[in-house]
Amino acid sequence: MAGDMNTQNSIDGLFDDSLKAAQQPAWPDKAALDKAVSELKSLPPLVFAGECDNLKARIAEAADGKAFWLQGGDCAETFAAATADSIRNRIKTILQMAAVLQYGASLPVIKVGRMAGQFAKPRSNDFEKRGDVSLPAYRGDAVNDLEFTESARTPDPARLVRVYNTSSATLNLVRAFTQGGFADLRLVHEWNKGFVKDSKIGTRYEAMANEIGRALDFMRSAGINPEEFKTVDFYSSHEALILEYEKALTRIDSRTGLPYDVSAHFVWIGERTRQIDGAHMDFAKKIKNPIGVKIGPKTTPEDALSLIKELNPENEPGRLTFITRMGAGNIRNILPAIVEAVTKSGSKVLWVCDPMHGNTYEAPSGYKTRKFDDVLEEVKGFFEVHQKLGTHPGGIHIELTGDDVTECVGGGEEISHDDLATRYETACDPRLNHTQSLELAFLVAEMLRDRK
Ligand code: PEP
Ligand code: MN
Repeated sequence: MAGDMNTQNSIDGLFDDSLKAAQQPAWPDKAALDKAVSELKSLPPLVFAGECDNLKARIAEAADGKAFWLQGGDCAETFAAATADSIRNRIKTILQMAAVLQYGASLPVIKVGRMAGQFAKPRSNDFEKRGDVSLPAYRGDAVNDLEFTESARTPDPARLVRVYNTSSATLNLVRAFTQGGFADLRLVHEWNKGFVKDSKIGTRYEAMANEIGRALDFMRSAGINPEEFKTVDFYSSHEALILEYEKALTRIDSRTGLPYDVSAHFVWIGERTRQIDGAHMDFAKKIKNPIGVKIGPKTTPEDALSLIKELNPENEPGRLTFITRMGAGNIRNILPAIVEAVTKSGSKVLWVCDPMHGNTYEAPSGYKTRKFDDVLEEVKGFFEVHQKLGTHPGGIHIELTGDDVTECVGGGEEISHDDLATRYETACDPRLNHTQSLELAFLVAEMLRDRK
């Protein structure tokens, strides 16, 4: 990949800065923002354009039904949680889920972290009120701090440089874990170490790991020990929200002369920033990375076609992923017309199900939560719709953590509303914990295996 190390900064004039950008922080200090942006522009790329192209090729395979996309990680990463343990637990959880899906469905799994850059959040209100005090809403560690004080909540552009540094450190660990031997399929047992063993799901995982181990031993006894089992490709992704950051990290790839956002392999535009004439759409249109767009229950088939027209007019394979987040009660009614219109247009997209964001509610105690059963029900509906239409249910997009948090209710551990207070740690939306994530993977593997 040496050829694309020389990414340059000459993207001046590429983006239309006059367009309206939704969900941007009100940075109080313009000079400080300029300083952060100019520093970011001088820093090396976090990912290489060639890697983005590799991912695009794999997405094209998934869109054709020949692979499955697994994307997972925090709703909002924080600087404080970028520790070796936390990062390793998230990677292990994703590797375990991928093994379950791959073994269950005999389909290659594309592993993508909502990681190493997922530090900014769109918010429904610019301000948060507690009692008589109103302060700017928390917009992710990229912008301000969760603590409810005036100084913590004031947007600070120096944080953007910290996002870069924390992403860089996280990616360094991701690359070490996935290329340095830890992701070797023969370590499928190791990935379960340190997690609660006595859960039903842990036992089920161990049983599957034994079967994989036996299959690998059998192959080795026959003289087959392929390199492919020793490392995995693991890609980074986040919502491209703070445009100053994403633009500062957009570089011209020296191989092709084309602009890539080198802050992550894959970026997506959120449900709240995908206005067709807005600045986020202009940004996504001009970068060559594979990109995603979240589409919610208000999306019409015409909206989906307009997004395609803007973002992938040439129908380039692997370029565009629609991440649907309809809600368990809506998906069977709303998704079919959208999928039908897209199929009819001849455009190829990867269909990914985000069963999290349409199923959030407030528990009586005030905690934001999601029911495991609603999450599962939305994925089931997603598979049913695609089954009926003869299209491929291409993947899932999950908010998860490797830790034993109590943020989503239900699952085998039967976490209740009363349990939420025990270990509720998310900086934003509730995540599936390690056990719930594995459980979901086993259930989705069955759906994948049973599809016709
Ligand atoms: C998210 O993915 O955390 C998010 C804010 O999603 P959406 O844009 O679908 O609401
Ligand atoms: Mn979220």
